[in-house]
Amino acid sequence: PSAETEQELTDGFHLIIDALKLNGVETIYGVPGIPITDFGRMAQEEGIRVISFRHEQNAGNAAAIAGFMTKKPGICLTVSAPGFLNGLTALANATTNCFPMILISGSSEREIVDLQQGDYEEMDQLAIAKPLCKAAFRVLHAADIGIAVARAIRAAVSGRPGGVYLDLPAKLFSQVMDAEEGRKSLVKVIDAAPAQIPAPSAVERALELLKGAKRPLIILGKGAAYAQADDEVRALVETSGIPYIPMSMAKGLLPDTHPLAAGAARSLVLKEADVVLLIGARLNWLLSHGKGKTWGAPGTQKFIQIDIEPREMDSNVEIAAPLVGDIGSCVSALLAGMGNGWSMPPSDWTDKINSRKEANIAKMAQRLLKNSTPMDFHSALGALKQVIKERPDAILVNEGANTLDLARGVIDMYQPRKRLDVGTWGVMGIGMGFAVAAAIESGKPVLAVEGDSAFGFSGMEVETICRYNLPVCIVIFNNNGIYRGTDIDPTGRDPATTVFVPGARYDKMMEAFGGVGVNVTTPDELKRAVDEAMDSGKPTLINAEIDPAAGSESGNIGSLNPQSVVKKK
Ligand code: ADP
Ligand code: MG
Repeated sequence: PSAETEQELTDGFHLIIDALKLNGVETIYGVPGIPITDFGRMAQEEGIRVISFRHEQNAGNAAAIAGFMTKKPGICLTVSAPGFLNGLTALANATTNCFPMILISGSSEREIVDLQQGDYEEMDQLAIAKPLCKAAFRVLHAADIGIAVARAIRAAVSGRPGGVYLDLPAKLFSQVMDAEEGRKSLVKVIDAAPAQIPAPSAVERALELLKGAKRPLIILGKGAAYAQADDEVRALVETSGIPYIPMSMAKGLLPDTHPLAAGAARSLVLKEADVVLLIGARLNWLLSHGKGKTWGAPGTQKFIQIDIEPREMDSNVEIAAPLVGDIGSCVSALLAGMGNGWSMPPSDWTDKINSRKEANIAKMAQRLLKNSTPMDFHSALGALKQVIKERPDAILVNEGANTLDLARGVIDMYQPRKRLDVGTWGVMGIGMGFAVAAAIESGKPVLAVEGDSAFGFSGMEVETICRYNLPVCIVIFNNNGIYRGTDIDPTGRDPATTVFVPGARYDKMMEAFGGVGVNVTTPDELKRAVDEAMDSGKPTLINAEIDPAAGSESGNIGSLNPQSVVKKK
């Protein structure tokens, strides 16, 4: 056939890439392999940034946190069966945390999988993904790719954000269709996460309750950070004069040094507040379910809750004033209502909080100043607190047990969405995935503060960090083990279940891939090494030697460990 009569063709590979690009996808996080290797190559060729990891769970975590940071679904790409399952952990974690993410996985042939005839990497991935994410779709026809990508994006970011699974059987990639028809089949998603305006009566109810409060409190959660309604949230706090506490990933939404920040008086305010306004925070285990000894006597506290998910209301305790809608719209509506007369909270409440806060901050300051060897968590964190104070636009990634709990309390944050951590599940293993995406998405230096155990779950990604030459500085709080490095096996046969090779030099791992490795034993050395890394932007791993006896079992959440009642002799 002559050039004019030859039909122009497209195929699954190109339609997926075109559909993603049409919807503003700039980066894919994944691990190549059958059947998506060529797809990754082509995506790269077509200008999408493709970041290849060493393990799918880390790629998935990277996509999830990219979703949190940008309000656009992060994309993770995996191979079938085992690769898919590895990515699925991250997808489930993203869904639990309300982060928008799409896991795109290649899969084996439907005909063989469904008859269970033993295909290469055979698995009914769609069925397995379904209960663990917000929505799951499979595409069998190239002509449906446009619609499928649109549905996946909408499902991930609208309403309560979450994880979406998109199943692409190997055959789909090479299916051809007419190029013009293909172009027409693509969908550009309009207004993917529409504003959800609260009902005026619900706003009125919330304002009434708030106005009558003697000891009001605002709790900011990571939903508020995600919503990117930073100015509105700040205006609400400052106009109302209501003290607030940030949940871990909401730190920095207002600077932790803000006069109304009550984080340092957390136990006091949770117990004594009479009206609590939750903004994008769930009353789950992280807030002791809104009841019990952390809180005031039953029935003495009233809750107002702002959330986009109606079913979140009354999930743990009665919500006196549910305010369902997006945070920007709800907060703006409250602010507008306050314009018609608002008086600041009684000063005996704010004075009481301030004096508790000052006392606690002074007590903590003592512990941060020690410049001795071996370091404990506080003395090492004192140095890192200073680093973030001097570099407020750096991103802090944080995981571990003691390393997490103590860093959360010690390191002040100054800007929104700069603290990325273990989230709702308190899961270990997010560190390197989050660090990679944080660097890629923000272009800013990243400081990853990692327990030695936590780091182990994603440590191989230091190669990825070096390969892409990312400005990531990893600090490992190395106390030789999980919680502590001092346990022994009572039988004397093996190492204790919670200890690692003593004196391990994680910094050498970084050197193996051309990064900078440093070993430090004092807070001053630590501060110098981190500053140098942040200034140079070179991939760096600092092994910070921490007293193996420092740290407590499970950090702040030791009470979650079941106890044996049968006493040993
Ligand atoms: P934290 O762990 O910081 O307390 P959670 O993850 O428990 O935060 O809660 C976040 C809440 O924010 C979820 O209930 C989610 O539905 C809600 N949310 C997320 N995005 C928005 C938004 N744009 N508007 C309103 N609520 C939101
Ligand atoms: Mg440890």
